[in-house]
Amino acid sequence: MKHTLMPFLICPECRQTLMLSTFKEQNHKSCEVIEGLLTCQSCTAAYPIIEGIPLFNSNSFCLHAEFVRKYADKIQQSAQLIDKATIFSKIHGQTQERFGHEWMNYPGPMAEDRKIFLEETQIPQSDWAGKTVLDAGCGMGRYTRIAHDLGAHVIAMDLSHALIRLQEAAFNSDRMHLIQGNLLSIPLKEESLDTAYSIGVIHHTPSAKEAARQLAKTVKPGGHLSFWVYGTAGSFKHFQTNPLRKDRTGLKKIILLAWFIVGIRQFISDFLRVVTIRISHKCLYLLCYPLALLGKIPFIKYLTFSVHPLWRVRLQENFDWLSPPYQSHHTKEEIIQWIQEEGFDLLKILPHGFVPKPGVLGKKMSIRPSDIKK
Ligand SMILES: [Zn+2]
Repeated sequence: MKHTLMPFLICPECRQTLMLSTFKEQNHKSCEVIEGLLTCQSCTAAYPIIEGIPLFNSNSFCLHAEFVRKYADKIQQSAQLIDKATIFSKIHGQTQERFGHEWMNYPGPMAEDRKIFLEETQIPQSDWAGKTVLDAGCGMGRYTRIAHDLGAHVIAMDLSHALIRLQEAAFNSDRMHLIQGNLLSIPLKEESLDTAYSIGVIHHTPSAKEAARQLAKTVKPGGHLSFWVYGTAGSFKHFQTNPLRKDRTGLKKIILLAWFIVGIRQFISDFLRVVTIRISHKCLYLLCYPLALLGKIPFIKYLTFSVHPLWRVRLQENFDWLSPPYQSHHTKEEIIQWIQEEGFDLLKILPHGFVPKPGVLGKKMSIRPSDIKK
């Protein structure tokens, strides 16, 4: 963790200032705090820094017993801390473990990443340099690297330990910061960022709307918020006005059939997930191997959850669909309302293919609509 991250950090519990105690530092491109403690000046909550990454999840101490033993004289253990860790693990533990497994096994950066990143954030290539941005739910940092290479100062945040795959890149740059934390209580100051983006993540939290609200808070007036979520068939009235990618406009001719198939597909997926979220993630991972192989067979492949040309990606994408305990589906109308309630003007809606993928790019107004009403 670089010292330049400190002005952005706050306690996720009470939103007050944190104090840094450094136990071990190393010089890389910048001076990095490898081990340390962030302590809240108000509520006395404490967050460890381990392997150069500040960890804001309430179960961090429980998952790092060796760190606790090593610095026992500096860490105040209490029954309250253990209670908080238990509650956190109950709500987020499975998501943390399963996505950690997925992103640790996901193939490294791929040639297609930049194109996908620019399309899905809907922010032009020229608008990243010099901006301070949050990659919310970065996984192993597939898109963090792109934002960084386009010249942004990136804060990459994820619930899982897969962030560790970005450690070397972060050590080699003074523009990349890593934090482990939860999108429902983001440990960043309000209105401190130029841009916050989240690519296909917030529907895996217990409340996608609340995660969007938390993301929106981090953005400065005049700054941008971009995210997309899993879509749903919704009402036909809304479905038929979904924006389609240029290469998919032919779907307009069979839009009623498309609406029906999307609805059936979601029904089957919900049915399967009743089982798949309850079996161990290692077992499920094995079951995804035959699905990944079927993903290469013409026509049959559409019965699986990935048709990516690389089998290792198909394996992860099938697991990605079937394993997360939380998976909500939304319409574009819902997410447009979410950002407007947080004082954002809608700039763009993400066009998509057969399966709806509602995504928005918004710009924060100087005054929120709720403030005008007052
Ligand atoms: Zn606090």
